Order: sequence, then C-alpha cells, then structure tokens
Amino acid sequence: MSPAPARPKLVVLLVVDQMRGDYVDKFLGQWTGGLKRLVEEGAWFRDAAYPYAATETCVGHATISTGAFPATHGMVANAWWDRKEQKMVTCTSDPDPNVKNIGYAGATPKGADTAWRMAVPSFAEELKFQTGGATRIVTFSLKARAALTMAGHKADAATWFDGGAWVTSSPYGTQPFIEEQSKSHPAKADFGKTWALSLPEKEYWYGEKALGAVPPEGWDLTFPHPLRGKSSVSEPDSAFYEQWASSPYADTALTELAEKAVDSLKLGNSNGTDFLAVSYSSVDYVGHEFGPCSREIQDILVRLDKDLGNLFAHLDQKVGRGNYVVALSADHGVVPIPEDMQKTGADSGALHLPEVQERVEIALESLNYPKPTVARINGSDVYFAPDVYRKLQADLNAMSYVLVAIGTAPGVAAVYRAEELRDRPATQSPTLRAFAYSYFPARSGDLFILPKPYWLLDSTPSGKARSYGTGHGVPYNYDQHVPVLLMGFGIQPGQYFQPITPADIAPTLAALCGITLSSRDGHILAEALKKSSDPTASTRQR
Ligand SMILES: [Zn+2]
Repeated sequence: MSPAPARPKLVVLLVVDQMRGDYVDKFLGQWTGGLKRLVEEGAWFRDAAYPYAATETCVGHATISTGAFPATHGMVANAWWDRKEQKMVTCTSDPDPNVKNIGYAGATPKGADTAWRMAVPSFAEELKFQTGGATRIVTFSLKARAALTMAGHKADAATWFDGGAWVTSSPYGTQPFIEEQSKSHPAKADFGKTWALSLPEKEYWYGEKALGAVPPEGWDLTFPHPLRGKSSVSEPDSAFYEQWASSPYADTALTELAEKAVDSLKLGNSNGTDFLAVSYSSVDYVGHEFGPCSREIQDILVRLDKDLGNLFAHLDQKVGRGNYVVALSADHGVVPIPEDMQKTGADSGALHLPEVQERVEIALESLNYPKPTVARINGSDVYFAPDVYRKLQADLNAMSYVLVAIGTAPGVAAVYRAEELRDRPATQSPTLRAFAYSYFPARSGDLFILPKPYWLLDSTPSGKARSYGTGHGVPYNYDQHVPVLLMGFGIQPGQYFQPITPADIAPTLAALCGITLSSRDGHILAEALKKSSDPTASTRQR
C-alpha cells in the first residue's frame, strides 16, 4: 500500500464544564500550566460561541462530539418532557431492559445510561469505524451526560461518577485499570482535605462573598472549604461527595484516570488514532454555587491549569510531543448570580417559571380549557398537555391570551411558537435563529420563553429559596461564548478572531484524521491547520 498521509496518534478532547470564554482573557496571566500552554502553543479562537439557545451540558457535549447542532443530533437538553411517556426523561436514560449501569470497586449504581438518544454518531465512533477499528475510545467525567455523549454509542470505556463511585454501563464494558484506580485511590481518600486559596489573596479579582451564592452543605461562603461532609461526621457522607465534586480534587482524580488510561491501554501507541476525552465537571458545580464572579472559580481554574500541565507532560512522555492533538472547549457559560448583578444597577432577576405556568392556567381557564393545560415547563420549553397545543393553534384568540400571559411575566423578553422554529427559518433575529438551531420536533417544547438578558430561568417553587446561585441555558453570549483551543499535531498556533462555534471542533479533528462526518453543521477550522504542499511528506520522512 502507498503511504497514507500522517495522522495524529491520539486525539485528546477536553471539556471544562461551564467555562466562560472570558475566563481565559481574565485569568491567563495567573496560569503557568496546561491552560497557559494551550494558549501559547496552540490556536486560540477568541470568538467561539454556540449559535443555539439550549446552552446545557448534554447539548454542548453532544455538539462538540458530533459537530452537529441539537436540531440535528437531538440532544436538546439535559432532560426533557417525553410526550409519549408523559414524564421527564434524561438525555442518557435508556429504557432497554438489557442495559444496566455497572459500578467499579463493588459499587451498585442505579439506572441505565447510554447515548442511544444521540441521533448521529460521535467523531470518536466515526474514527473507529472509518479507520478499521484500531481506535480505542476512552472518556471520563463526573457526569454521565458528558462521558457518554463524548464517547458515542459504544466505547472501550465511558466512565462517570455516581454516589461516591466510578461507574459505567453495560454496552461500554469495564476496564481493569479503572477498577484498580477505584480501589487504590478512591474519592473518599480526599475526606478531611481542605480547599484553600492557591494564590496570595491580593491576586483575586472578587470579594469573599458573592451576593446570592449558595454553597454546598457543610461549607460557608468563605475560604477555606473543608471536605468533611456535614460538620460532625467522621466518615464520607453525601455532603462530602457534593463538596468533593465542587472542589479541585475531583479534577485531579479525573486527570489521574486519564493518565492511567494512557499507561494501561498504551493510548497513542497503536496502529490507529486513539481517542481520549475528559470533561471536567467541577467548574460547573462551583459556578452554580458561587457564580462566575467568585474566588472559587478563579482558584479552581488555577488548580485545573496545573492538572492539565501534568496531563500534557504525561502525554509528551508517553505519546510524544507533536504526535497528539488536543482540543479544549466548554459546553456552555453561565450568567452572573442575579442578586450579585443587581449591585451594578443592571436589570437582572429570577424569572419564576412556576409563576409563568400559573399565568397560562389562569388565561386558559377563562376560556374554559380544562386544567391542567400545561404538562411541564422545562427551562425555556413549555409543553402542553396532550392535544392542547393543537387546539391552541386553531384557536387564535386563546393562543394570543397565552402569549400575552407569558410575555407579560416579569423577566420575559419574547415567546416563540414551535411552528416558527421548524426548518431553520431565514431570520434577522439572533434569538429566533438560536431557538431554531435547538429545535428537534419530537423532543422540544410547544412554546419557548426567551428571558431578558441577565434574567435567570428559575424553576424554584413559589415561596421556596433557590437551592443554587445561578445557571445557564439561554441564547445570550454569557451562556454561548466559550473557549476553543487546539494544540499539537497539525495545528497552526496563533490567535484567531473570526466567529466560530464548538461544532467546528469535530470536523477539524476529522480533517486531521482523514475521515468524514455525516453532519455538515460545523465546518473545518482551516485557518488553524498547518498547510503542507505535499500531504504525504511527513510520513515519508519518518
Ligand atoms: Zn455543563
């Protein structure tokens, strides 16, 4: 056979859950490890943003993994209302009775999770299939919806964290090195440690307490944060695992698992191109609790920078500098905590979804629609009870009542109807277009609520305190703008300012590996690829 063009030995996909694009701009000067190296040695896309509305974890990971938008890959939210079953389903829940989650180190997890609801193959699956099966696919995260979407429908290992243990599910199989790591370095070994500030206090941008922040049980709003569960316990409890997941120690555990995978499976040393992905979940938990303007966010990124420095040093040693390509991005950003934002005088608040639901019920009750008319409001998506929406479409008077009832609720900017979003309409409205890119008819809602900028979609029942500081999930740039950094094999370093989306990552990796993806939502980031007049030259030189 003639020599094929050179390909990377290993593709490394890193997702930092809830990492805003501007964290790189703000905190780069304090980084010395892997995040700094990505910027200095890699291609930094400074205007990368999701073009769609549903800026949530499952959606973003599926988009990065497949190179498609949710209108194509079908992962429209972390969970949605299943009209047929008349209940909420998570994006990874698998009703197949033969599928079961499996725990490492004797754990017995509940449930059955796979990527079966993802309607297109992942980049990793395509790589394995199109290159003759030599690819090994290994993914890690604290969250099933990240580990499984990055892997795809099958993998050599797709591992997440549940109830104090690492787990997987039956179609993905188990790996001895994960069992060994689960036993020798379990998460509970971090019980009793303390998360303290890494930098001198004057290096922190923000005050000690963000208004409206909600720390995990057992912590207060100021550093240091002890990993001791509820104050009086001597053994790891559920509060400890929540603290651990909200701390840099969980990022370090994921990094160690990734390094073990490289060593045990000799990733990057086979005949094919291997695939390793890690989604770092802790920035997301910390952001929900303490908000983006917090010492906790700044500090956990300092620690993640060190972990990634260690990971890249490990890959340099075991795979060889230049033999692997890294892509780092995030699944979404986050909005500042409303109470914190209000300090600036900005129009900000919590958009109470139960109140919106009540307004719809009252409007339709006056027109003799039988209660309840709303089955569920999930984030932006309003799902009506069976047949109600069809009736409303034929009853323009009632439809206008509903639109006014929602549209006049505090914090609402606009309401869109499903029929406006079908078939990706041509429109000048960036928000209408964003909802259309998210719209998957069988799974998306009937109506869609666009909050005003800096208004948090809040499903907390009336009269109860919010159990988290802030969130994400809307088509504004604070949720859509994320970093995209590429480094290593075939990448032309530099800063790139043209607008791109994270759906461009998979097509770019596919181009480097010489394979074809089915979806055409993303495009190849050609400007960041090294150009060669003779693509076979590097192979022949070896
Ligand atoms: Zn997320």
